[in-house]
Amino acid sequence: MTTRKHTAYEPTGTSPISRRARSYTIRRWSVRHARALEWFYDIFADILLDLHPLWNLIGYERAEAPVVVLERVVKGFLFDCRMCGQCVLSSSGMSCPMNCPKTLRNGPCGGVRANGNCEVEPDMPCVWIEAWKGSVMMKNGARIENVQVPSDQSLRGTSSWLRATAERAREKQQ
Ligand code: SF4
Repeated sequence: MTTRKHTAYEPTGTSPISRRARSYTIRRWSVRHARALEWFYDIFADILLDLHPLWNLIGYERAEAPVVVLERVVKGFLFDCRMCGQCVLSSSGMSCPMNCPKTLRNGPCGGVRANGNCEVEPDMPCVWIEAWKGSVMMKNGARIENVQVPSDQSLRGTSSWLRATAERAREKQQ
């Protein structure tokens, strides 16, 4: 009888079969197309900024609910977004760091496996290995070197799109 060899910590409560069922296909596609998504987002962000007078008219708070729904659907599909409310995709090669089981926002921990997968989720590519792959393709890929502040849990579930737009509008007015 052969016994299964454990080479590193493996999580309990999730069978290897169910873990293998997740292939992270879309998430990895987004990283492979990081440059195109960066280009698209820059245009999209400019459109949101142009709409600032409209957001002001409606009220950013009132616009929040429908925009959150849209953001959750789009980014959930493309990036497995967890709606942290402070998006760093532009600084992380279009790989969402909140998919890291340790939610590390400034690079990988010391437990990345030799095959580039996560030590906690052995079948999942490390989000920071993916982030590096995406960043080297991006025009502003050097942003991956920016140190990210700890995520503010009070912003969880809010719209990063609207927050970034309001911040840009404020900067423009100064
Ligand atoms: S960094 Fe935050 S907002 Fe951006 S994709 Fe990840 S969870 Fe979503």
